[in-house]
Amino acid sequence: MSHAWFQSIHPQNTTRYSLDEVIYRDPQTDDLLEVHHDIDALKKKSAHEWRTLFEARWRSQNKIDASGIWGKREWVLPDLPTEDIVSLGEGATPLFSGSQLSKEFSHDELSVKLCGNSHTGSFKDLGMTVLVSQVNHMIKSGAPIRAIACASTGDTSAALAAYAAYAGILSVILLPKNKISLAQLMQPISNGSLVLALDTDFDGCMRIVQELTQEKSIYLANSMNSLRIEGQKTVGIEVAQQRAWSLPDWFIIPGGNLGNVSALGAGLKMLLEMGLVTKLPRLAVAQAEAANPLYLSFKKNFSDFEAITAKETQASAIRIGNPVSVKKAIRTLKEFDGVVEQATESELANAAALGDKAGLLVDPHTGVALAALQKLKSSGVIRPHESACVVSTAHGLKFADFKIAYHAPKSTMPLKNEPIDLQASLGAVKDAVSRFLDKNN
Ligand SMILES: *Cc1c(COP(=O)(O)O)cnc(C)c1O
Repeated sequence: MSHAWFQSIHPQNTTRYSLDEVIYRDPQTDDLLEVHHDIDALKKKSAHEWRTLFEARWRSQNKIDASGIWGKREWVLPDLPTEDIVSLGEGATPLFSGSQLSKEFSHDELSVKLCGNSHTGSFKDLGMTVLVSQVNHMIKSGAPIRAIACASTGDTSAALAAYAAYAGILSVILLPKNKISLAQLMQPISNGSLVLALDTDFDGCMRIVQELTQEKSIYLANSMNSLRIEGQKTVGIEVAQQRAWSLPDWFIIPGGNLGNVSALGAGLKMLLEMGLVTKLPRLAVAQAEAANPLYLSFKKNFSDFEAITAKETQASAIRIGNPVSVKKAIRTLKEFDGVVEQATESELANAAALGDKAGLLVDPHTGVALAALQKLKSSGVIRPHESACVVSTAHGLKFADFKIAYHAPKSTMPLKNEPIDLQASLGAVKDAVSRFLDKNN
């Protein structure tokens, strides 16, 4: 008897598919699949027992227990043998808060979940450890899988490249040429993937990789593969744990292909179902104005959804016009009384710079989420007394160009902090220091 299986998101098709099958869509309706769990089996442990177990593992010296994902393995892949796990110490990331952050954003109860503090610098590690572990298990059991492939706006490919290399599995990466950051491109190249830079956008790469992986020997690693969602869903569970098993009133999360918002929702629902929390938060998806198909649909009360051609944005990892997980995302937003907000290029850059002033190093995607927080506050959707958690999806160091451009000499951005070229004399340095102190004290 298996304790987890794939099932269609279409409510009429209740067929169960083994997690060992190479299958990404419902054969009848072409809908995406999701992983279902045997909740009755999990309920043999009480909420108190689960909390105690999760807390003990978080502090463990055992590598598998200490992973944010695998410390919760019964809720993720309950039937996977622990010796097949491929882990690089993902998850268990800091929940950032403090008086400076609250002051900069004029919001008392604000926290930022730093999912980018991870091996390859983005939350994509959370899902990739699960997918590569499952494939590792299948290969060891004799499945004829020769490589894992993905289309990527940068971070998925970095995560796949690292986890596949660690497990000794080949990886194939399809990237939109000249549309990802240098740090993101450098990662799969260094880890030995086959890196194919295609003359198209992300949506074009996504189309081709779906056709390529019709061949079952090439396993698909994009988040339409619901194994990724099982890892990513631990973010909300970790936040609850870090807040002594209570949830904030709001989560604000940047959205592109829209797998991550469905993942966040799945984890939160499981917390409620298992009795570890008593109330669900509301969700806000944040999109760049240049790539806002979900925002446009939200404005029409989700009555329909139209794919668009995404335009250029500094938030390059969410430059997606035809999100593959849109149905799951809309379903999640309806369940969580959710909203969608958008941010312009200057709004996202200024919100990121404001976060940086409080000690963060905000990537452009998290900048979109912080700008959405500001806009939802000023429109009265998020109230001053409500607690809010922004999901930070990547490490700012992956987007050095974005930071340097903001503070460059020719920049006219309001929070610009330009370095000063100075002669090497004590007098000149003293003058500069006293000007700085007078201006800021
Ligand atoms: C992938 C990614 C996103 C978007 O996640 P989706 O699941 O595609 O909505 C946001 N931010 C960063 C940094 C990413 O790499």
